[in-house]
Amino acid sequence: MVNRRLLKEFESEHCFPEEVTWDSFGPDPQTLTCPVCKNRVITITHSSCSWKTHLASTLMCFLCCPFCLVPYFVNVFKTVQHFCPACGLMLGEYRA
Ligand SMILES: [Zn+2]
Repeated sequence: MVNRRLLKEFESEHCFPEEVTWDSFGPDPQTLTCPVCKNRVITITHSSCSWKTHLASTLMCFLCCPFCLVPYFVNVFKTVQHFCPACGLMLGEYRA
């Protein structure tokens, strides 16, 4: 018979990275439990440009022109929305 407590500890330590809280979304996919479908998922991210992306690009243009397009390719400077891959619910958002 499997010790359920040990199995749960093993799963939490070895199978999934640390779960995020609802206000801690970052630019990268996060692991969490979806409140609607109850699946433990790694979020799908969709990024879009914001005024901060354009501002960062403008600043980069003045500082080092060849790198002025970098903010358009790096999620750190964009608004990133996190979606559940199972049910499609938007779970959170990261704003640069
Ligand atoms: Zn879901």
